[in-house]
Amino acid sequence: MKELICNLHLHSTYSDGTGDYRSITQAALKTEVDVIILTDHNILVKGLEGYHRDQGRQVLVLTGEEVHDQNRVPQKNHTLVIGAEKEMAGFAHDPQTLINEVSRAGGLSFLAHPYEFDLPMIHEPDISWVNWEVDGFTGLELWNGLSEFKTVVRSLRDGIKYLFLPEMMAHGPLKPALAKWDELLNSGRRVNVVGGSDAHAIKFQKAILKRTVFPYEFHFSAINNHLLVEEGLSGSLALDKAVIYEALRRGSSFIGYDLPAPTRGFRFVIDDDDNEYQPGDVFTMKDGATARVNLPENANIRFIHNGKVISEQKNTNRLTCSITQPGVYRVECSLYFLGEERGWVYSNPIYVKPGSKRLTL
Ligand SMILES: [Zn+2]
Ligand SMILES: [Zn+2]
Repeated sequence: MKELICNLHLHSTYSDGTGDYRSITQAALKTEVDVIILTDHNILVKGLEGYHRDQGRQVLVLTGEEVHDQNRVPQKNHTLVIGAEKEMAGFAHDPQTLINEVSRAGGLSFLAHPYEFDLPMIHEPDISWVNWEVDGFTGLELWNGLSEFKTVVRSLRDGIKYLFLPEMMAHGPLKPALAKWDELLNSGRRVNVVGGSDAHAIKFQKAILKRTVFPYEFHFSAINNHLLVEEGLSGSLALDKAVIYEALRRGSSFIGYDLPAPTRGFRFVIDDDDNEYQPGDVFTMKDGATARVNLPENANIRFIHNGKVISEQKNTNRLTCSITQPGVYRVECSLYFLGEERGWVYSNPIYVKPGSKRLTL
C-alpha cells in the first residue's frame, strides 16, 4: 500500500480565497502534500489541473467546487463536489438534486462543515448542513480547519490568540459531527469522511495589525487526508485522478492532523488467515479475525464499534483487538500538543458483515 497525502477544500482568487493557483501550488510544494484539490465557491475552474515539480517535490493540482444555494438566507448546505468534471452550481437550489446529479456525473459529494458555530463578533452566521433528509452523498467533511475558528473563538482575545498562534486552534472534529457520522453508519449507510482545510488565506488588517489568517502553507501542514492506494502517482492525469477519486469514494483513507506529528504510517487493518482489510473494505466475519492498529508514534487510541468505544489504550503505538461481532469499526487517535489533548487521526471504517453460521457438533 502506498500513502498519498491529499489536502482538499481550498479557495483561490476564483472565489473568496486570496491566493491564485500558482501561489497555492508553490505553498503546497513546500510541504509534504502530494495532491491538492481546489474547490472554489460555485465555479468549476477549468484547465488548471496538472503536476508541478520543484527541487525533487511533486504536487498534483486538481479542481472540484463547493456548491451552495446563494439565494438561501443564511447560506447553509455547502457541498464539496469532486470528480464530477462538469459545472454543478446550477443544481444548488435543491441539495438532493445536486447530490443526485453529482452522482449521475460520476462525482463525489461531501457535506461540508456539517456542524459549526456562528461568530457574532464578525457577523458570521453558522452555515451548517440542515437538510439531513438527503441520501446518496459520498460522505461528510468531518473536520474543517477554518470552521473550527468559529468554534474556538468566543471573544476578541481568543480571535487575536488564534490569529497569531494558529497552531493552538485545532482540537478535533466537533462532537455533533462525530455523533451524526456514527448515527448514519449505524443506520446501515456507507458514509466516508474527509478532513477539509477551507483555506482562504484571508488578509486581515486593523490599524497596525496586519496578518494573513491561516496561510495556505499552514493548512497543508495541518488537516490532511491520507489516501491508501495500490501504487503511487503514475504521471498520467486521467489515471491518477481515477485512483485518487476512487480512494475518496471508498473511504480508503484516514484524516490525519499532521501538525503535532506526521500521521504518515498510521495503519488500521482487520486480518484473518487469508486476507488483510483496510478502511473502506467490507469484510465477512470469520473466526480468528483480528483488528490491528499501528501508529508512527505513541498516542491515545480509541477502537470504536458501531459508535461505541470497545477498547482504549493510552500512550501506545499499537492496539490489537479480536473481531467477534459484525458492524462498523473505526479508529480515533489523540495526543497532547501545546498543553491540550487534540484529535490526531480519524480512520474511515472497515465494514464487517455477518458470516455464515458454523455447525457445532
Ligand atoms: Zn463552505
Ligand atoms: Zn469553503
